[in-house]
Amino acid sequence: MRWRRCGKSWIVRIDKGEEIVAALREFCKAHGIVLGAVSGIGATDKATIGCFKVKNKEYVKKELMGDHEITGLTGNVSTMDGEVYLHLHITLSDADYHTRGGHLNSAVVSGTCEVVIEEIEGQIEREYDDEVGLNLYKL
Ligand code: FE
Repeated sequence: MRWRRCGKSWIVRIDKGEEIVAALREFCKAHGIVLGAVSGIGATDKATIGCFKVKNKEYVKKELMGDHEITGLTGNVSTMDGEVYLHLHITLSDADYHTRGGHLNSAVVSGTCEVVIEEIEGQIEREYDDEVGLNLYKL
């Protein structure tokens, strides 16, 4: 991973073989980023995405293997119990240009992944909401 700070934004390059969610979590921890917006593009050959089944309050997961363009990586940085908390969604396009997307659990970079993190002043915590079954913004 390589990075450069530009004002309140961070330009991040995640390299081949690195797992995106873990890499970004470690990056935010290392640089004290507790609130922000994430956007990116790139390529992955191994990703696990999820869809939250509201009725059952649980995610169903799907693993996608092979060459995929990351046509959209978007999400946010907040905290839960004071720890960096990343919430990321992804859209992936395969060799037939078919796209699939969902909640991002993990994705291993195959080519490169270019991410911009816009840091925001302040801190927003999350807390588990029993009714929804998700960790919601505590506003
Ligand atoms: Fe999600």
